[in-house]
Amino acid sequence: MSSTERRTPSGGQGWTRRRFLGAASVATVSLALARLQIGCGGETPDRASPAPSRRGLPELPTYRTWEDVYRDSWVWDRVAHGTHTNVNCVSACAWDLYVKEGIVWREEQSASYDPGCSGTPDFNPRGCQKGACASSLMTSSSRIRYPLRRVGERGEGRWERISWEEAFDDIAGSIVDSVEKQGGHGAICELGPEIDYGPNSASAMRFFKMLGAPLTDSMAMIGDVAFGGTITLGTAHTGGSSDDWFRSDLIVLWAFNPVTTRIPDAHFLTEARYRGTRIVTIAPDYNSSSIHADRWINPRAGTDAALALAAVQVIVSEGLHDEAYMREQTDLPLLVRSDDGRFLRAADVEPGGADDIFYAWDTVTDRRVEAPGTRSSESQSLAWGAVVPALEGAFTVRLADGNEVEVRPVFDLLERRLNADYEPEKVAAETGLSADAIRSFAREFAGARAALILSQFGSCKFYHSDLLQRAQILLASVTGNIGRAGGGWRSGAFVAMEGMGLLAMQRKLGLADLVMLGVRSYFREPEENLADFARYFVPSGLWHYVHGELDDTAANPAYGDPMLPAGPAAYVKEALDRGWFPVRRDKTPTFLLSVFGNVLRHSRHGHRLVEKLWPKMDMVVSVDFRMSATARMSDIVLPAAGWYEKVGFKYIPVEIPYVTLGDRAVAPAGESKPEWEIFHRLSSAVARKARERGVTAYRDSLDVERRLDELDDAFSDAGRFGPGDEEKIADFILTVSSTSKGLDLAELRERGHKRITGLGMQGGTTGIYSDYSETEPVVPMRWFVEKKQPYPTLTGRQQFYVDHRWFLDLDEALPRYKSPPKAGGDYPLVLSGGHTRWSIHAIWRDQALMLRLQRGEPVVLLGTEDAQARNIADHASVRVFNDVDSVLARAKVLPSFPRGFTLVYHAWESYQFEGHRTHQDLAPTPLKVTQLAADYGHLGWTYAHYEPGQVDRDTRVEIQLVA
Ligand code: SF4
Repeated sequence: MSSTERRTPSGGQGWTRRRFLGAASVATVSLALARLQIGCGGETPDRASPAPSRRGLPELPTYRTWEDVYRDSWVWDRVAHGTHTNVNCVSACAWDLYVKEGIVWREEQSASYDPGCSGTPDFNPRGCQKGACASSLMTSSSRIRYPLRRVGERGEGRWERISWEEAFDDIAGSIVDSVEKQGGHGAICELGPEIDYGPNSASAMRFFKMLGAPLTDSMAMIGDVAFGGTITLGTAHTGGSSDDWFRSDLIVLWAFNPVTTRIPDAHFLTEARYRGTRIVTIAPDYNSSSIHADRWINPRAGTDAALALAAVQVIVSEGLHDEAYMREQTDLPLLVRSDDGRFLRAADVEPGGADDIFYAWDTVTDRRVEAPGTRSSESQSLAWGAVVPALEGAFTVRLADGNEVEVRPVFDLLERRLNADYEPEKVAAETGLSADAIRSFAREFAGARAALILSQFGSCKFYHSDLLQRAQILLASVTGNIGRAGGGWRSGAFVAMEGMGLLAMQRKLGLADLVMLGVRSYFREPEENLADFARYFVPSGLWHYVHGELDDTAANPAYGDPMLPAGPAAYVKEALDRGWFPVRRDKTPTFLLSVFGNVLRHSRHGHRLVEKLWPKMDMVVSVDFRMSATARMSDIVLPAAGWYEKVGFKYIPVEIPYVTLGDRAVAPAGESKPEWEIFHRLSSAVARKARERGVTAYRDSLDVERRLDELDDAFSDAGRFGPGDEEKIADFILTVSSTSKGLDLAELRERGHKRITGLGMQGGTTGIYSDYSETEPVVPMRWFVEKKQPYPTLTGRQQFYVDHRWFLDLDEALPRYKSPPKAGGDYPLVLSGGHTRWSIHAIWRDQALMLRLQRGEPVVLLGTEDAQARNIADHASVRVFNDVDSVLARAKVLPSFPRGFTLVYHAWESYQFEGHRTHQDLAPTPLKVTQLAADYGHLGWTYAHYEPGQVDRDTRVEIQLVA
């Protein structure tokens, strides 16, 4: 029987779902009674005989046996293909959706991926237990089915059902008010991370971009920007496909627990182990991935950078490093002035010389030579030719003013620092590791043919995450692993679909317009094209800091680097005064819209935003399908269609190089609508309201003139796309994206997924920089290593030395280790975090099926020794507190946790805690000032590239038993 053939239940009646469930429960009760009768010596009833008819009551189904109840649950009308689009799970899994009588009855892993390429395993099966019960979420009690308007105070929980027309009219009125008062500065979109690549997220972005109002950068807000990658490689987001893990000899899972957080890809690790790959996990606790590892290394929380640098010290001191690779690919041969710690530049040695020409010392000719590969260099290749640059030594150079100065290669400075501070014996006490363990790890890493560090997003959530990642990349680089199949350092990247970006930002979408745009893009630098997309985004951390008034927490000097006794406030002022970030202190919006983002949950400052930011808003609107913490604090909630009720494309994590379809298997529940229709109709309502009130021209947030009364025209591209055109939009995105060449919606519907045809435009969240083949795993950074193309950094090389003034002031010019700050006060326990196994962010956090697989309420995990020292028994009620806040939860006591280390898995909603205070309220998430730096080559604000991130892994707390 084919999977799409209709099967009918035995008996053949046209049943409703309710009737079926009713019958099932009656049959179950009957069966139980029958068993009782047998147990009492009674006779077995004749199950084939129909249930007795009772006057006035409907006939019961004619079950023959109890097995029919089971059999008849496996029936369907048709099968559609789907996935979970607005879920930030960093995965993409194709599912078959079984539809019966207008609802998705169950889902099944598609298991239809092609055989693996180049001898690697295939992508079957994909999925996680959350996806396997997503259909029940679509009908859960937290599902929003109708537009709602609050009738009590914000957050009071009293709502009235209103029509879409009333909702649009109210919202349009507030938007027109806000624009009248402040132009494009009047409104803001809290664009959460739950985005898709289809018509849905594109519509929210398009609405705000056509309005000329800002959108917050959600990548930084959730602490997912790998700043160490930005600093060193010129991209925060780099990665390859999961099947490439199979080609590794050694995989280091560093602050990464894929067995819990990447369930669909964890099998690649198991398969690699069958091939002989060794797995190392580096984590303070013995977690679910450590169980399957060959080696578990458990440094004290937050001391990982010291471990990485000690490993580099061992490798260099034992001569295990790859000098040829270091010379060619990195800035380690570049000369640094001993007098001021800055790179030697052409501007130093030649009158009028460029500020981005750097030098090395040629050991062949014994003279300084220009380093190739910077933007101002004549040579755009990293190859040195006949030059063999020195890595060690001191040299004298004559400056343009006639003075002489001593210079040394970066590697020389690094080696001295390594030998002074990072010998394993010196690092052992700080990390709690033995020197032998560090040496053994270093030698194993250096000895592997291909060694891979999977660092991912967990490593981004430390205050000094940049230092940790710079040290990790250094380890991968001195061993020549970056750019190698099965090797390197990977933080995670997303393959771009250009069509989605165009839809989000381009007003005119006709063929001629796109051709013109294509020609223009061809002649521009990639950064300029990305900047176009990033226009109207604002850095979320800084924006919340300013408008949420977070000085006491984020800028509290006591919670950050002690080298900054006055805290970061002066740096923030300088950055804003210099215009390095598009954040205006004098412009606070009065209209806020959150789309699937649940900003009050994912911001570490949730309740502080409610106290300080929310009162400034005349109106807060949420677009969501579930009653999230943010929806509860909104004035109007608009019901969005669920995953199985609209057309969308899952975003494409490079780990899974497939376009994955989320199809409209059933009609939207209640009155919910796809986002494309919501924002289309909202644009019409705003334009209509503007016309009624005579509000026409205004200046947007970038000072561009716009017409509010023509917003509908701009959004729809003069009627090119109507409110019900989500399929047409989907085809547009597929057609114009290099990722999906030749693919249309009809073809994608055949299997629900298709291997990508390209890696899209490089840069931004797509830092892969490699050619692509459909028959090869994806390996990042190959253009640099194989083609000698310069990296997108100031020096054109992997840049381990940063001579920005602030980096020099804070002694962070080189990768180094700094003790974690005491965020939240001087308390004995570190409160860490991580993605939970039982939900993707908050989406499944209150779902009954998932709750009953765990303890069902928020728990704080702590080790046996810490629990005993505080007289805390497992599941006791405890108070977790620090200077910033206090939270009530249950204790979960584990022998696998070290002393001083506690953890709350993330994404509990505030309303699940007694007192509605969450563990995130304990995190002051201090600003790191080097992330405010700009005006320095590749360092400066761009969307998801360089800006203050949210950090919570350095939070200090104490835990007390609640009597
Ligand atoms: Fe896959 Fe994400 Fe769906 Fe889970 S929620 S099945 S990881 S797409």
